[in-house]
Parts: sequence; C-alpha cells; structure tokens
Amino acid sequence: MTAQPTPTRDRLRKAPSKDVVLDVRGLRVHYETPSGDVIAVNGINFQVRRGETLGLVGESGCGKTTAAMSILRLVQPPGRIVSGEVLIEGTDMVRLSERRLREVRWRDAALIPQGAMNSLNPIMKIKDQIADGIIAHESGHPRRELKGRIFELLGMVGLPGRVYNMYPHELSGGMKQRVCIAMAIALNPTLIIADEPTSALDVVVQRIIGQTLLDVKELLDVSMILIGHDMGLQAQLVDRLAVMYAGNIVEIAPVVSAFADPLHPYTQLLIASIPSIKERKPLKVTEGLTHDLRRPPPGCIFQFRCPYVMEVCRQVAPPLKEYKPDHFAACHLYEPTVTGGQRVAGVGGGAGSDTPETRLPHAVAADNIGSNIADTLAPPDGDDRRTTSHVSTDPRNP
Ligand code: SF4
Repeated sequence: MTAQPTPTRDRLRKAPSKDVVLDVRGLRVHYETPSGDVIAVNGINFQVRRGETLGLVGESGCGKTTAAMSILRLVQPPGRIVSGEVLIEGTDMVRLSERRLREVRWRDAALIPQGAMNSLNPIMKIKDQIADGIIAHESGHPRRELKGRIFELLGMVGLPGRVYNMYPHELSGGMKQRVCIAMAIALNPTLIIADEPTSALDVVVQRIIGQTLLDVKELLDVSMILIGHDMGLQAQLVDRLAVMYAGNIVEIAPVVSAFADPLHPYTQLLIASIPSIKERKPLKVTEGLTHDLRRPPPGCIFQFRCPYVMEVCRQVAPPLKEYKPDHFAACHLYEPTVTGGQRVAGVGGGAGSDTPETRLPHAVAADNIGSNIADTLAPPDGDDRRTTSHVSTDPRNP
C-alpha cells in the first residue's frame, strides 16, 4: 500500500528562502556503450533553495539517480559528466580537484544512498561507522566528545542510545535507515540527497522515516533532494516537485500546484497512478514506450507516449517555461499559439485560475488530488507503437 498524498497540509507555513544552495546548470551525463552514448541526463537546469525539500520523481531509468550522483560527482564509468555546472554554495563540483571534492562531500553535501539499509558495514559497530565519517573530516576530536556527538546524532533520528554499541544485523530495516540518516547529518551539511530512502520498507516504517527526515530538516535547516517513485510520499514530504522523463526535467513546481494542477501530460499520468483508498479500481498505466535513449527524437521527448501529441511536438523541443508563478513545464500545449496550427491552448491553470477560460480537458481541480485523472486522457486510436507499460508507485513492484 502506498501512503496517500495530503499536499494541502500546512507545508506553506514556512516558505523556504529563495536563497539558492544548489544551482545545476546544463548538466549532461552520458553512459558509454558500444552502440553509442546513452543520454541519461540531458542538459538539465534546476535549483534547490535554502531550507527546502525538492522532490525528484520519474519512472525507473529516467535519470534521477544519475543526476543526483552527478551532483556529488559519484557517477561511475562508463558514466561521465559531459558538460554543465553543479554549484553548491557557489562552488562548482564538476571542476573541483579530487582532494577538494573529498572535503566537500559529507561536509557540504551528503548522500543517503539507494538501498542505504544494506550500505552499512556488517562487521563494524554503529559507533565506529558514524565516527569514521566524522574523523575523516574533523580530526582531533577527543574520544569523549566524539561519543557524545554520536549519541546526540542517534537521538536526533529517534534511535535509543543502545544502538551505539550494536552491529547492523541487530537492527531492523527502519533502524538501519535511521543510522544512515544520522551519518548523513553528522557533519551538518547544507544539502542532503536522499535517494529513495524509504524503498524496501513497509508503509508504516516509510511514514516513520519520512517523519524523521522532516524532523531533521527542521532541526538543522538543511536543504534536501528527495528522490523517489512514490508520488504519495512525495506529496507529503516535499516543498517543490521536479518531474524527470528520459533524462529531462519536464515540470517543476511547488508541490501543491504540481498536484492540484499538473501541466505536463506525463506528470498527470504519474499522479493518476496513485492508488486510491476510497475506491477499488484497476491501476492506471502509462501507455507507449520510451524512445531509444541513444537516439532521442527531434522535438518533444514525450511525443511517443503523449495523448496530446501534435505536429509541432515532433519537430520542436518545448523549452521549460514558467506558465504560472514558480510553475514551469516543457510542453507546447501551453503556448498561446502553437506553430503548425494543430491546436491552440491557453494556460489551463488550477482551480480558480484567473487566466482566460480555455482550460484543457485534463486540468484538474485541487479537490481531485489523488483521483485518477487518466480517465480524461484518452489516447488517440491507431497508434501501433502504444503498448502497455506500467508506471508503478511501488519501487518493490515495478
Ligand atoms: Fe505532449 Fe506535445 Fe506537450 Fe510533448 S509538447 S508533452 S508531445 S503535447
């Protein structure tokens, strides 16, 4: 079961500062293969503001983990950063020396890796694993002070002091995950990247880990990138949502706006895939196949799966543009005029939008959050490329 979204809760009570902690500019990452480079991240641009949590979502293989690894320059061969800048507090990670990079990792930007539960060393006690990271960056800690610091970190993530002397196999999955969070915050970083921190946990523990992340963020005023498939969990935890498809960011918006009025057809389909606890109905699917990532088509990268594809979409790549305050999307549907004359659409906007009433049929009102908006997305007939492919909200059941 997936946690249901409650994006209308008081997330806006403390708006994050516009001050930028992370500025990713034109980041492009390729994986080399004998038959050509796979374009995993295709020149993306986004920012993370001080104190905010940015959700990075999309289906498996869309490039979200590669993008996150690139921020810390942890992409392994055959992957490589081809171009772009990754500025953390103004320091470009792409151009740092290895020595400086080791200083910046964990101290300025820390990672909670995917499968973090299994990333702990099974033959080291928790106290030694946490101490390792601290000593590597801040040598000269008196033993007593270090012990106090580790106890404090364990307390911050809701773990009892006895964990200090335990081995990973003595802990539950949720406890191991919280140890990983304690390690990530040990050096009080400015930015934490959490790569699917709740995958492989049951829904109750997911909720606890999510709450732990929120608590830690509030306590330390740290900025966070939360990567995941689970739209319900994202709705509860993040301030803004960035949606990735085939290496591109196709929409980025405040979370309430993203769920209440998703602009990009792919975002709409992702939201439609959230199971409802109110009614039993078949899980919705996104039809069609992603293009060959070695040979992206001209025009929009979502054209093979988009129910609204137009002639212009096959020729011109839509830029990521701001169509509502702080709400960006890359889609020709929202251009005041679409070259080719196939279709003209005003910005549909959310419920209560003051834009002209040329609402698109898929625009949803805030009270429909979590409902299955794919019902309104009837694909055109006769497209033989359309096979069925599942957008799962559960990483354990892709
Ligand atoms: Fe669909 Fe065209 Fe928008 Fe791409 S640009 S998402 S193909 S309508």
